[in-house]
Amino acid sequence: MAQIFCIANQKGGVGKTTTTVNLAAGLARIGQRVLMVDLDPQGNATMGSGADKRSLPLTVYDVLIGSANVAEAVVRPDKLAEAGCGYAVLGANRELAGAEVELVELERRERRLKEALAAVDADYDFILIDCPPALSMLTLNGLCAAQGVIVPMQCEYFALEGLTDLVNTIKQVHANLNRDLKLIGLLRVMFDPRITLQQQVSEQLKAHFGDKVFDTVIPRNVRLAEAPSYGLPGVVFDRSAKGSQAFVAFAQEMVARGLRA
Ligand code: ADP
Ligand code: MG
Repeated sequence: MAQIFCIANQKGGVGKTTTTVNLAAGLARIGQRVLMVDLDPQGNATMGSGADKRSLPLTVYDVLIGSANVAEAVVRPDKLAEAGCGYAVLGANRELAGAEVELVELERRERRLKEALAAVDADYDFILIDCPPALSMLTLNGLCAAQGVIVPMQCEYFALEGLTDLVNTIKQVHANLNRDLKLIGLLRVMFDPRITLQQQVSEQLKAHFGDKVFDTVIPRNVRLAEAPSYGLPGVVFDRSAKGSQAFVAFAQEMVARGLRA
């Protein structure tokens, strides 16, 4: 059975997509079978996994509206496989923005992704869902499909404030739509230990959330920011970079956590 996780945070630019593609590549590198689902119409996770969003014959949009199943819509980009980090990609592009409206008309509209993923549950160890930066019908589909949420966050002044909304959303979805949903953990990303404020916020996070804060910390690292322009996760683009090593360590932490649970 696959462990299914959403990478979510209602703020944009906090590192969701970077976390999704690099965790996917890191898990693949250590031998896990991974499916990455791009739920953001921007399609950044698709492009950042070596798939061209403009030329995909089928995407997560077709899966959500029920005109394709997951197995026929996934692609396996060669560039990832050649680097020994092959994972499957259920891509997205601008067409997905239309799903928001079309889903409203459909039955069991928040559960479309969950029901579609059930068919491939045995094919993967991990399914990672990159959510858009809003609490939309798309994000709701992600939260209904998942067993847990991974929240990437920068250790900045307003970080804790934003978290309250997200934690409340997770509680509501848990109560009303998905009893399996848990906050798995907070991942500190783009971390710069030289900045005192970041250290302070990091300490506050640990004081507040305890073991919900992942041990692994992802440093600010320019190689992770450069990788998307090559259509690759940092873990594939430059495996020796500090940021890439941190994401492989995070993949190991996620696998170890699954063995514990
Ligand atoms: P989101 O998906 O939440 O909008 P992204 O993953 O696209 O966020 O990240 C926002 C920007 O920050 C991107 O330009 C990305 O390359 C950059 N970035 C993300 N993580 C890091 C990091 N650890 N170090 C440096 N740059 C990063
Ligand atoms: Mg994104």
